[in-house]
Amino acid sequence: MDFKVNGEKVIWEFDPLNLDICKIFLATPLFSGGRITISTPFTVQIPSGEISRLGHVGQSYQITQWYPKPAVYDKNGWNPIPYLNQGEFYSEYGSFDVSITLPENYVVGATGDLQTTSEIDFLNDLAAKSALKIKSGELGSATKQVTSFSFPESSSKMKTIRYTQRDVHDFGWFADKRFEVLKGEVELPQSKRKVTTWAMFTPKNAEFWKNAIEYINDGTYYYSLWNGDYPYNQVTAVDGTISAGGGMEYPNVTVIGNTSSKEELEVVIVHEVGHNWFYGILGSNERVHGWMDEGMNTLNEVRYVQTKYPDNTRFSDMVLNGRFHLNGLDHHDSGDISYRMMAMIGADQPIETTSPDFTPANYGLIMYQKTGLVFFYLRAYLGEDLFGQCMHAYFEKWKFKHPQPEDMRSILEQTSGKNLSWLFDDLIQTTNHIDYRLSKVKKTPSGFDVTVRNVGQVNGPIEIDGYADGKLIETSWVEPGEKKHLVHLSSLNLDEVRIDANNNIPELDRMNNQWKKSLLFNKIEPVKFEFLFGDHERGKSNNFWTPMVSGNAYDKFMVGIVAHNYGIPFKNFQYLIAPMYSTGRKSISGIGEFSYSILPRKSFKLIRVGVSLKSFKNDEKMGNSFTDQNQYYANFSPYIFMNLGNRKSASPISHSFLIQTISSTIKSGSDSTNEIGGFIKFATHCVKADHQADLILRSDYMKNTANSNEVGRVSIEGNYRFRYLKNKMKRWVELRAYFGSNYRYKDADNTGRYLISMSGASGNQDIFYEDYYFARSATSGFFANQRNADMGGFKTTSNAASTSFWMTTGNFYLQLPIKPNVLGVFADAGTYSNGSATNGIFVTGLGMRLGKVFGVYFPLYQSDNMGALFTSNYSKNIRFTLKMNIVNKGLKLTGIN
Ligand SMILES: [Zn+2]
Repeated sequence: MDFKVNGEKVIWEFDPLNLDICKIFLATPLFSGGRITISTPFTVQIPSGEISRLGHVGQSYQITQWYPKPAVYDKNGWNPIPYLNQGEFYSEYGSFDVSITLPENYVVGATGDLQTTSEIDFLNDLAAKSALKIKSGELGSATKQVTSFSFPESSSKMKTIRYTQRDVHDFGWFADKRFEVLKGEVELPQSKRKVTTWAMFTPKNAEFWKNAIEYINDGTYYYSLWNGDYPYNQVTAVDGTISAGGGMEYPNVTVIGNTSSKEELEVVIVHEVGHNWFYGILGSNERVHGWMDEGMNTLNEVRYVQTKYPDNTRFSDMVLNGRFHLNGLDHHDSGDISYRMMAMIGADQPIETTSPDFTPANYGLIMYQKTGLVFFYLRAYLGEDLFGQCMHAYFEKWKFKHPQPEDMRSILEQTSGKNLSWLFDDLIQTTNHIDYRLSKVKKTPSGFDVTVRNVGQVNGPIEIDGYADGKLIETSWVEPGEKKHLVHLSSLNLDEVRIDANNNIPELDRMNNQWKKSLLFNKIEPVKFEFLFGDHERGKSNNFWTPMVSGNAYDKFMVGIVAHNYGIPFKNFQYLIAPMYSTGRKSISGIGEFSYSILPRKSFKLIRVGVSLKSFKNDEKMGNSFTDQNQYYANFSPYIFMNLGNRKSASPISHSFLIQTISSTIKSGSDSTNEIGGFIKFATHCVKADHQADLILRSDYMKNTANSNEVGRVSIEGNYRFRYLKNKMKRWVELRAYFGSNYRYKDADNTGRYLISMSGASGNQDIFYEDYYFARSATSGFFANQRNADMGGFKTTSNAASTSFWMTTGNFYLQLPIKPNVLGVFADAGTYSNGSATNGIFVTGLGMRLGKVFGVYFPLYQSDNMGALFTSNYSKNIRFTLKMNIVNKGLKLTGIN
């Protein structure tokens, strides 16, 4: 590059931190109202389209973020921002005049109005042909699926096509030789101006795309109706590949990735077309206030689906093709339930969080979905007309400008005449959550007196709905403010009163929202048992069950039933019981989990108290010397888990605290032994799109009350994971460091139960029963090679390397960039004390891993002091792990993959 200002060379330099940003030093200052011309030649090497937004897939081209772009200078100063996968853009408005030269048989969809007559004819001709092919069934019918991906030869003749556009802040273009083209037209609701619409797609996707013009037209129509007329002349949607989400927006043109149904294609097209308003016309800072484009766009997308398909059951249909008991859940419910689940586990972040600081899950669930929900709430409160006036006023005042959140708030408050502090200060700035309760309904001569309490953390408006015979008779909104409201409904014959009957308010708990005249005890919910899994319905107590077969080395075959209430969204009280008849034990084995969660306003984002129960058969080797092999263990393990944090914090760093105690009994005939103990675990996590880190401090104590064996242990573990392949494959490198030391240790019977193991805890060493083992107490045979991914973390099995003193290790793991993601390489190094050796013993391992949930590790090298690898029985060194802890105590909410 060679920057010139008004034709004169200038000094410029790259930003030392971000190589995609450079700074130009003007020879003379540019004053307000002044004008300069900056020019530079530039070339771009087009990368693979698998990496991010710009690129080529074979001979199809997606040309975006491809030219030097000036940073926005707004009231906060300059906004130079680097390119990110997770995080969008902020660009300055301008006029574009772009000429593209390429082989003649390429079909191009681009920003702007096409100025080249021959190309206009070419597209019109293609559109006429494609329409005929669809009509005749040659294209787009299910029976005539085109499976070929091949590209026709590029013509040797080149063409130059020219586009111009005003009042846009970006320019993107897409070129493919295989495109079929459809052309349409939509009349705008206010100005009645006609806008041309284009759909360009590969023959392979024609079955879904053949109705794409309808989606583009309807999207353009409704967004214009609800926000303001589309100010440009054309809207184009092209079928392409996109690695950063389901689609990507550019002014006038959007690129749509592969979808699995025509319903999904419609939603993605409408969403991306909708960005013409929320991004294109209203040019907010997407990097810092991503909700202003993605969230406002999601609101309109949800409105679109609910308006066009009022009876849709999109969410129920989507999950396992509707096979679960998700009772008629629609498009709005998918965001509603997802947000409430995230909030119920205390893992949400405020809507107002910058894109790079969002955890990948919250980027979608909070920035897109929760924003959509809170504005859906505002719309229900203001009513269709007033909300429409607000959105139109926002559009008119801020089109082709850079609105900030305060600008939006100000115009919405002005237009509506309402104080929207509950929305802009609480719901957008914090993770404070909503919970309203219908506490009393009393019949009076003039109707009903309804007492409503605000038991949540947001003082928002409350909708009260009165029903008679299942019909909505009366709706009343309570203005924000008091903790307790008395509302009068004037209808005389109500038999049911509900808060927010249509789920317009994103409340965490809707179970306390109704009163029914017919119920004797109007607060007791009818109990419902459903197969497998489903949603929690309002006014019902949903439970789920499934038969279960299971097995391990001692219980042999087990058959039983699982009953639980882990439906969606989560509830405060959750339980799971799985009693199973054990053919090995000839009695009942199984597990039980009971927990209760609260979401405090201050200092904690979640407190969960619970108890875990487990009882399975055993054999003689587990910390005792019983002779009768017919033994079993039963344990009772109460815990308290706390997710520390501040409801205003937008940080990707979180802290958690787990205190767990255990009392376990091993019984064998009349013999029995009992262990009691507990641990405290403090963990700090940082979850970002391409980096994850955690630090875990832990202190364990366990004592056997029968033989007074005991262990006291402290450990510290650090993990850092880095996504080294940022393309679709998303491969990670993991680094781990561990130090553990036993400060108390007694094992009179030499059971090895309290040792720190280089290879991770064997079943015998899993003293808090934190995982499942095929053969918990096995010391030989294949099952003895099952280890936890903890302690020394070596990925080879060596009983030679364990210690009653201290151990420190470092572990490396790299997921290989091959499909599927099941292969990796590992390397481990560590040292430990055997009591006499002061320098400890140094050991290493290196090998391959296969698998994901079930991981098998094949060592290729280990140092001599871990035992000979290939000359003795190699299979003894193959280690496997099973990550099957079904009850998540929330310590690792988001992980790799
Ligand atoms: Zn979007």
